[in-house]
Amino acid sequence: MKCLIDGCDSVGKIRGLCPICYQAAVAAVKRGEIEWVWLESNGFANRPQHKSSGNGAFTKALRQQQELNRQHRANCAS
Ligand SMILES: [Zn+2]
Repeated sequence: MKCLIDGCDSVGKIRGLCPICYQAAVAAVKRGEIEWVWLESNGFANRPQHKSSGNGAFTKALRQQQELNRQHRANCAS
């Protein structure tokens, strides 16, 4: 699928955007110039396809690793 941005012929990979346009969008969002909701509703980006499962799995894995690290530190300290 082509990147959603007019004039960009790269392949859309993340939220329908190519990596370059996606990075530009992320940078604009970080600068506070724009919000993802606006980009989504104006056709500049797709909604994340696996938002809940992706975030959930990532957060779960992160928590498990943090917990393992904590236990490891506790074991080493004793
Ligand atoms: Zn692009």
